[in-house]
Amino acid sequence: MTRVFSGIKPTGHLTLGNYLGAMRQWAAADQHRSDALFCVVDLHALTVDHDPARVRRLSRQAATLLLASGLDPELCTVFVQSHVDEHARLSYLLECVATDGEMRRMIQYKEKAAREQRRGGSVRLSLLTYPVLMAADILAYGTDEVPVGDDQAQHVELTRDLAVRFNQRYGHTFVVPRATHPRVAARVMNLQEPMSKMGKSDDVGPGIVYLLDEPDVVRKKVMRAVTDSGREVVYDREARPGVANLLEILAACSGGNPEALADVYESYGSLKKDTAEAVVEVLRPVREKHKELCADPGYVEGVLREGAERARGMARPTVDAAHRAIGL
Ligand code: ADP
Repeated sequence: MTRVFSGIKPTGHLTLGNYLGAMRQWAAADQHRSDALFCVVDLHALTVDHDPARVRRLSRQAATLLLASGLDPELCTVFVQSHVDEHARLSYLLECVATDGEMRRMIQYKEKAAREQRRGGSVRLSLLTYPVLMAADILAYGTDEVPVGDDQAQHVELTRDLAVRFNQRYGHTFVVPRATHPRVAARVMNLQEPMSKMGKSDDVGPGIVYLLDEPDVVRKKVMRAVTDSGREVVYDREARPGVANLLEILAACSGGNPEALADVYESYGSLKKDTAEAVVEVLRPVREKHKELCADPGYVEGVLREGAERARGMARPTVDAAHRAIGL
């Protein structure tokens, strides 16, 4: 059976981008057709300035939202990365096959390091090595497919390179995985800055729709989305990024396709209105289920405990094999 692995970082409140680009497919498709693991990758949240109590709170919230979005612990494994030591263990072994140069070429590293420096902060070494830990997350489970948004494509490519290199040098140890991306909304953009992605780690902003936003807040954010001075609704990602983003969000929420939807609308106002309602409807069951789950924290705790146990059992043989293969 196909093995699927993916994760989500508890660096902020989860967004519509996380949901449409990743979580929705995990719940609707991946968990049914494969042997899937979904992980709250809390070690990755330590790569930038963080408040320990907030990371713990956000980890729990992310796990609860994964379940609220429809992941079923009877069908898949849901767990927290730091509960399974094999990730950090394998990460070190992979650091011994990765190079300094390839780490420094990662686009996300360059962007985030530059941002830290602009703020006058220092860049943590873990920010540089983050993609190696991500490779360990994936390779530890013999993963075939990694369903992610577009922004993670380069990191999955690196994971493939490391797996191939390790296998060539030390004998076949890892399955070489591949990334899969959703058909639409693989990159949801910020509603106020449609040239940048809607990222949860950014500061709270009017351009980011959070999964737990109240319906009226969602409506307000979508209605105030930046478009352009044109009037005609056309789907053009380069020339009309704001409108294209709305069309993609609407398509992802309503099941249509963005080009066809562009022909349906005569004004930005009606496009925004329908997009806002479609987003509210898509998020409604997630918010409702989240509320239910929050009333029973023992349940979430139990799911995570069992998930970690199962994940440990799956990762250990591969990580032990890598350990032996590299000479330990
Ligand atoms: P973030 O960038 O919000 O911190 P993560 O690194 O935790 O997100 O990513 C979790 C998943 O959500 C990944 O599969 C990532 O590709 C996807 N994702 C994040 N932001 C977006 C977005 N704006 N559009 C589409 N997918 C996204």
